Amino acid sequence: MTETIKSDPATTSNTSVFEPKIVAFVCKWCTYAGADLAGTSRQVYPSNVRALMLPCTGRIDVTFVLRAFLQGADGVIVSGCHPGDCHYTAGNFRARRRWILFRDLLDTLGVDLRRVEMAWISAAEGTKWVKTITTFTDQIRELGPYEPMHKVAEDRSPDTILPVDLALSYYSGGENPISAVDPKLQEAVGEAMAAGKVKVVVGWVRNTTLSRPRPVWVASAEAAKFLTQPGDSGNLARMIKNPQLRPVGPIGIVARTTEMMALNVLIQEAQLDPANVVIFAVMPDGKFLGTMDMAQVAALIGEQVKNVPADQPAGFSPETHKLLDELMAKTPAERWQFWAEQSAKCIRCYACRGSCPMCNCEQCFAEKNQPQWFPTAADGPGNFAWQAFRAFHLAGRCVGCGACQDACPAGIPLNVLGAAMARSSLKHFGHRAGVDPKAVPLQSDFRPDDKESFIL
Ligand code: SF4
Ligand code: SF4
Repeated sequence: MTETIKSDPATTSNTSVFEPKIVAFVCKWCTYAGADLAGTSRQVYPSNVRALMLPCTGRIDVTFVLRAFLQGADGVIVSGCHPGDCHYTAGNFRARRRWILFRDLLDTLGVDLRRVEMAWISAAEGTKWVKTITTFTDQIRELGPYEPMHKVAEDRSPDTILPVDLALSYYSGGENPISAVDPKLQEAVGEAMAAGKVKVVVGWVRNTTLSRPRPVWVASAEAAKFLTQPGDSGNLARMIKNPQLRPVGPIGIVARTTEMMALNVLIQEAQLDPANVVIFAVMPDGKFLGTMDMAQVAALIGEQVKNVPADQPAGFSPETHKLLDELMAKTPAERWQFWAEQSAKCIRCYACRGSCPMCNCEQCFAEKNQPQWFPTAADGPGNFAWQAFRAFHLAGRCVGCGACQDACPAGIPLNVLGAAMARSSLKHFGHRAGVDPKAVPLQSDFRPDDKESFIL
């Protein structure tokens, strides 16, 4: 392995005295015992490795890997029981699935994939542990210190100040044409309310101060002057996250395609009772399609997806796919440079999180202090970890509505990362977010034959 690897001068550097720092996250039952066996058998392997014991590889979290790099690691390896040998039945199958998605995310970010490895090493395979660690250490020694990552880790510069023109275009709303009120939609809302099918309905209305529309809840059809083409205004599915709505009774939502897809994801994740929601469906051309239940919505989305190319996730705009294609045509070092510049602009306002219907944790781990998952400041390490983990958290869930990107005051192309994860979900697992409300959430699932050609 080491002989064939050539260092990428743009992302690495070699020194004659360099001794890499390697972090190994190992399962307590198999690999840790295998490493112990190597020691008691007096086998020799490089002392560069710091082994951290996990109860199971299923406990591995991508933040551990990112944190290891941000704290100075030059290479990270995760190792545990062989498939079928997990002491908790399927922890390693789940880890494997997450690792597949994680590798694609790292690749999109321009992280050097030669610096991350995964291995299956049993308690009886002390010799395999020695060989794997020796080979990996040689490989990282040849690549040199991971300077681009360490540079990010050292960047403790204060918050970015937004360029004035960017901030103004955000706050004034910019060009965002909105359509007229559709009387048919208002009639449908009135009928549903009169029949007791819905208690409250949410939709977009004209804003009196900004050119962007704003969402409102109405409890009377009289008040409903909903727009059918609200432009890049966000995703209304996020509005139903409010727990105060639960005792209200059936709710209605004026929904476009990506809003309907987001509702499907929320049903998959048991965040929404499909019997408790009525859809007033509108099409991209502003046409009001009709009043629907979620079963009809699923059929409608199923029909629409038939028109999407087989290798493309649904929901994302052609511009987003084009940007992602252009990005992936660059070298890893160029991709890294691109995301380093984008990430540096982040002010950690969390508007991306607030606008996303999929972000529904009561307390976001990004703001937790005990334990602190990663740095909370808007600086190099904090921003990198936030961007990377947010994209990973949304793998298999993001429907490509673009609400996060539209809300971002720093103009970071967040949808490109979402599209990269959506492509990975489709390519490896045939999973399209928001299409089938009965599908098992991607990261809660596994298949015994999930790919593992990259695992040592
Ligand atoms: S909306 Fe943009 S600036 Fe705000 S936290 Fe998200 S990525 Fe950072
Ligand atoms: S991550 Fe962005 S594009 Fe994806 S569902 Fe959330 S708001 Fe929409």
